Amino acid sequence: MEQTEVLIIGCGIAGATAALQLARDPARKILVITREPDPSESNSNYAQGGIVGRGADDNPELLEMDILAAGAGASSPAAARILAREGPALLQKILIDSAGIDFDSRPGGEPEYGREAAHSRRRILHVGDGTGHAIVAGLIAAMRRCPNITILTNTTAVDLITYPHHSRDPLATYQPVMCHGAYAFDRKARTIHRYISHATILATGGLGRIYRNTSNPPGARGDGLAMAHRSGARIVNAEYVQFHPTTLAVPGAEGFLISEAVRGEGAVLLTPQGRTFMEEYSPQWKDLAPRDVVARAIHHQMETFGYSHVLLELATQLDAETIRSRFPNIYARCQQVGIDITREPIPVVPAAHYFCGGILVDEWGRSTIKNLYAIGEISCTGVHGANRLASTSLLEGLVWGDRAARHIVKTLRKTTREILPGREEIPPWDESGLLADADSALIQGDMQTIQNIMWHYVGLARNAERMSRAIRELRHMWNEIETFYRTTKLSDGLIGLRNAVEVALIITQAALHNRQSRGSHYREDSVVEEGDRWI
Ligand SMILES: Cc1cc2nc3c(=O)[nH]c(=O)nc-3n(C[C@H](O)[C@H](O)[C@H](O)COP(=O)(O)OP(=O)(O)OC[C@H]3O[C@@H](n4cnc5c(N)ncnc54)[C@H](O)[C@@H]3O)c2cc1C
Repeated sequence: MEQTEVLIIGCGIAGATAALQLARDPARKILVITREPDPSESNSNYAQGGIVGRGADDNPELLEMDILAAGAGASSPAAARILAREGPALLQKILIDSAGIDFDSRPGGEPEYGREAAHSRRRILHVGDGTGHAIVAGLIAAMRRCPNITILTNTTAVDLITYPHHSRDPLATYQPVMCHGAYAFDRKARTIHRYISHATILATGGLGRIYRNTSNPPGARGDGLAMAHRSGARIVNAEYVQFHPTTLAVPGAEGFLISEAVRGEGAVLLTPQGRTFMEEYSPQWKDLAPRDVVARAIHHQMETFGYSHVLLELATQLDAETIRSRFPNIYARCQQVGIDITREPIPVVPAAHYFCGGILVDEWGRSTIKNLYAIGEISCTGVHGANRLASTSLLEGLVWGDRAARHIVKTLRKTTREILPGREEIPPWDESGLLADADSALIQGDMQTIQNIMWHYVGLARNAERMSRAIRELRHMWNEIETFYRTTKLSDGLIGLRNAVEVALIITQAALHNRQSRGSHYREDSVVEEGDRWI
C-alpha cells in the first residue's frame, strides 16, 4: 500500500497540467499513473488541429458566444466564460513559458492563428498538424524535471477506493461518500496495489473505443467514467458523443483522421461506385455542410446501401504537388497503407471522436464525491453542452487541470491534519481462488460485440427501437462480463471490457431517455421543428 498527497489517474494534457501546477510546492508529493507503457500515449497526443488562443481581433466574449452556439443551447454559460477568460493566459503561462512549446509563428514572430469551423475569429494555435504530440512531449518533459512527481506507467486503475464502500467500520455508512484513492493493476507484475491519497484526480480521457469506428487510440475506453459511476458519482450529458465525418477506412490504419480541411480544399465525397451524394442531404452546402450533417449523410449511405465505407476524392481537385505540400501527414500516412492520394480516392468512414458528457464537476473540477476531482475529456464542466466547438478540448484540460490543482492546494492546506486511512482500514484486493487467466478470445469478441452494438444502435442516427434493443443486449453482456470478471484473474483487457460495457449502458440509457435531437445527439424519432431537420 502506498500513500500520497495527490493521486492523478492519467497523464494527457489534463492530468499533466494538474501535476505540474501541484508540483510547484517541492514538498508536495504527486503520484501520476497511466495504463500505457509510454506516458505520452493518450488522446492528447493525437490532437491535430490545435488549441484555442486569443486572436488579434478577438476577445473572451466572442469566444464564449462561439462556444455557446456550438453547444446547441446545452453549454453552461458560466463554464464557457471561465474557459474563454482564463484559457489563453494559461496557454501562454503553462504551455509556452513553462513547457516551452513552440507554436507556429509568422516570419515577424507573431503567432500564426488558424481558423476552424464555427469560430468567428482566427484564434487556433498549432504546431503543424501535430499539435497534440508537441504539447504532450513538452508537458511530459516538464513533469520529468519535477522530482516530486512520480510517473508510474503500465499501471491501470481498477476501481476508486471510497468510504463507506471499502471501509471496515460499519459506522462509515452514515458518512458522505468520500474518495481515498484507487486500486491499480500493475500490468507487468500482474499484482494489485492500493494507492491512498488525500485527493484523487480522474484524468482518464475519452471513450471513443467503445464504438466500432473511432478516431481515438486503444486506451480511450471510458475507464474513469465507469469507475466514477460505480462509486456513485453523478454523470451527465452522456448521450452527447461527437462523431467526425472522415477517418481512414483501411485495415491497419483505421481511425486516422482525415482533416475537414481536405474538403475545404475541394475534395468531394463519392459512393464506392463514384456517385456524388452530398447534394441529396445539403443542397446548399453539399460537401462543405457542417460536420454532423456530413457524418450522418455518410452513415445514411452506408446503412442504406450496405457500403463498408465511402470515398473522398481529392486527386481530381488539386494537383499532386499542392496535395503533398498542403497535407504532408495525410499524404504520408495514406502512402504507408498503399493509397496515393494524388492519384486515387481515400476510403473513409465517420467515427466516434469526442465525449461531450461525463462526470459532473463544478468550476474547480470537484465531482459529487468528496475528495474526487475529474478533469479533461472524462469530466463534464458544461463547456461543450451538446456539441464541442473545435479545438476547445485541449484548452479545457489545461484550464480545469489548473483549477483542480489550485483547489486541492487550498484544501490540503486546511486539512493537513486529516489522517489518511491506514493499511488495516482498507482491505487489500482479494484474488484468492481465482486461478484462470482471462481468455483473450472472449475479451476481444465481447469488445467487438459492444463496439458493433454502439455503432449500429447508438451511433449517428438513433431511435427508440434500436436503443431498446441495445439496452437488452448490453444488459445481457453486462451480466456475462461481470461473472467473467469475478471468476478470472485480472488483466488490463478484462478491466477495459468491464468498463466498456458499463459505459455503453450509461450512454445508451441517457440517449434513450433524451427524446429530443440536439447537437451531436440525433434521434430519427425526435419531434423536431422544421428548421431543425438534418436533411
Ligand atoms: C485524432 C484526434 C484529434 C483531435 N484533435 C483535437 C484538436 O485539434 N484540438 C483539441 O482541442 N482537441 C482535439 N482532440 C480531442 C483532445 O485530444 C482530447 O479531448 C484531449 O486530449 C483529452 O485530454 P485528457 O487529458 O482528458 O485525456 P487523454 O489525453 O486521453 O489522457 C488520458 C490518460 O488517462 C490514462 N488512462 C486511461 N484509463 C486509465 C486507467 N484505467 N488507469 C490509468 N490510466 C488510465 C491514459 O493512459 C492517458 O494517460 C482530438 C482527439 C483525437 C482522438
